[in-house]
Amino acid sequence: MTPTPPPIPGQNPLCRTCGEGALIKRTKFRMSGPVVAIGFILLVPSALGMLFGALMLILTGTYSSHISASGEREIRVRLAQQEIPEPIIAEVASGKPVPGEQLTPLTYPQRAAVHDAQSSLSAQNVGAGMAVGFSLFVIVASFVGGLLGWAAYYAQASSRVCTMRSDCSSLLGEQT
Ligand SMILES: [Zn+2]
Repeated sequence: MTPTPPPIPGQNPLCRTCGEGALIKRTKFRMSGPVVAIGFILLVPSALGMLFGALMLILTGTYSSHISASGEREIRVRLAQQEIPEPIIAEVASGKPVPGEQLTPLTYPQRAAVHDAQSSLSAQNVGAGMAVGFSLFVIVASFVGGLLGWAAYYAQASSRVCTMRSDCSSLLGEQT
């Protein structure tokens, strides 16, 4: 490590407060070095994470609407093969519960087919919901990570300090 050379007044701007001292730039470490480094390192993956999460959300939306459309078709075909009445098929396909009195005239295999269709449909919805939840989690986590990284990085603010009077420095405030 090389020692920092003493500031030469001629090379630094004159203090505007007292007009005598020179202003030297001093970097304040409000956070410890590693925290700042981690913060800076965090910025890149968090930006990528937010982008990735948004992309995943779009893909999930497109994919699940595609899947549910084809799943609905498949359910309709399967139920129609069991010769289940159309009103019940429509209710199952739209995800609505089928009233018990509509199920009573059905045979056992027909009821089993209705039950299978309902559970596969709800499994699809749970899957899509989980994918959306995961995407949102990635976005929020990346955003929080980025925010923390940003905060840690910018907590290291540089200020100008007067060489003549120490009370000037406090008047100057912080400049980046
Ligand atoms: Zn001064």
